[in-house]
Parts: sequence; structure tokens; C-alpha cells
Amino acid sequence: MLITGASRGIGAATARLCARAGWDVALNYAHDAAAAEQVADEVRALGRRALVLQADVADEQQVRRMFEQVDAGLGRLTGLVNNAGIVAPMARLEDMAPERWRRVFEVNVLGTLLCCQLAARRMSARHGGAGGAIVNLSSRAAEFGSAGIYVDYAASKGAVDTLTKGLARELITEGIRVNGVRPGIIATDIHATSGIDAAAPEVAAGIPIGRLGRPEEVAEAIAWLLSDAASYTVGAIFDIAGGR
Ligand code: NAP
Repeated sequence: MLITGASRGIGAATARLCARAGWDVALNYAHDAAAAEQVADEVRALGRRALVLQADVADEQQVRRMFEQVDAGLGRLTGLVNNAGIVAPMARLEDMAPERWRRVFEVNVLGTLLCCQLAARRMSARHGGAGGAIVNLSSRAAEFGSAGIYVDYAASKGAVDTLTKGLARELITEGIRVNGVRPGIIATDIHATSGIDAAAPEVAAGIPIGRLGRPEEVAEAIAWLLSDAASYTVGAIFDIAGGR
């Protein structure tokens, strides 16, 4: 399997859990090679193969090369987690520079579309593949819209939800299950970029369960969606959000 953005946070937790479930894992990262290598060591310690691959998911050439490296290093892909995603500093729309919209959409939406395309070409029965499963990371922001915080990010995750539903129906007859997860507020480093103080008590107080989620709690849903236990689950989008 390939997990984008696997050097930390939800992607790293997913790599550890999926290795325990028996997957060999290609770990993609953008900047932090040392962090990705450390996760790879943990995967190997669990007896599975790990491949560390640098690529910006918004860069078509880099992503094509990454898939070829997976072909060569692990063989034909059967699992993909489109986890790499970015936010941008908290702002009202009227104060945002359009460049940030482009970057947010290039990483969160075009990166996901491209990885889905390249994975489908490898997994699809139409191309002699053995089928597979894809899980796309959305966000509860797709429903709430994140007014005054980052409506661009929320809109990009809305697009992820829509492409998940459409692709699920397009690919299921070829043996590929596509599903999504929509995390609430999870304790990862992503909030440093937006400037949201996720550790502030009022943030936890605004979540019905009364606390932030842990990356491992999102990984559990992703790993299940990838597994054969989810064989009849197609085009589903799971909210993993403590009731939010
Ligand atoms: P995170 O801690 O910020 O980690 C992001 C990961 O993505 C890192 O491994 C990072 O690699 C990688 N990445 C960033 N830009 C990339 C790019 N252009 N190409 C390839 N990799 C890239 O994020 P997270 O909180 O685990 O979030 C994971 C996913 O869940 C995202 O799609 C996010 O939108 C979604 N989500 C998170 C939350 C939350 O509260 N945490 C809530 C809802 C949805 P480097 O470290 O090498 O840069």
C-alpha cells in the first residue's frame, strides 16, 4: 500500500496500524525525510517491508515517479491512502491571497485526483489488476465550512468528498473500493500552520466527547476501510469526530 503524508500525524499512525495488519507500506512525505525514515523503521520492526518516497503530491512528475518506485519496490499496488493535506493560516476569505487557494487545492484536491488515477490504473481489473481499496482523507470542515478560519480548506475537502463518492461508483465494478474518512479535530502538528490553538480548553469543550481525537483513532477507521472486513462498504464517508 501507499500512504501519502506518512511522516507524521494520521498518516504515520495509519502506517503503523496497517503494518500490524500485514501490509507492506510505501511511505510518502514532502519535507521531513528523517521523520518518514523513523516510521519506516517501525514498520520494518513489525516484520513488513517499508519504502520511503519523497514527492510533493501537487507535482505531477514527482507523483508519477513515486508510483513507479512503488511498482519497482513493492510490486502492484492494492491499497492507497490519500492522506497528505494542508491548511493555511486562519483568515477571512477577503484577506486571503489567491496563491494560497491554488496551493490548497493543488495539494488536497489535484494531488488526491492524481494519486487516485495512478492507483486505479494499477488496481483495476480493466488493466489486469487484482483490485484494491482507496481511502481519502476529508474533514468535518467540509460540512461546517470553517467560516472565518479557512473556507478554502473546507471547500477543498468538500471536493474530496464529492470525488470519493463519484469514483466509488466508477471503480467498484473494476474491483476497487473507494471510501473516505472525515476527521474532526485531531491532535497533530497540522494546527501549527493555521494558528489554531488546538490545545486550548475551549476547543475540547466544543467537541461532544470533550477531547481532541488521537491520530490512532482515525487510523483504525482507515485500516478497517482498507481491509476485506469492509468488502460491502463503497462510497462511504465516516465521520471520526467525537460527535462533532
Ligand atoms: P500533519 O500532521 O500536518 O501531517 C501532514 C503530512 O502530510 C506530513 O507527513 C507531511 O509531510 C505531508 N505533506 C504535506 N504536504 C504534502 C505534499 N504537498 N506532498 C506530500 N506530502 C505532504 O497532518 P494530519 O493532521 O495528520 O492530517 C492528515 C490528513 O487529515 C490531512 O489531509 C488533513 O487535512 C486531514 N485532517 C486532519 C485533521 C486534524 O485535526 N489533524 C482534521 C480533519 C482532517 P512532511 O512532514 O514531510 O511535510
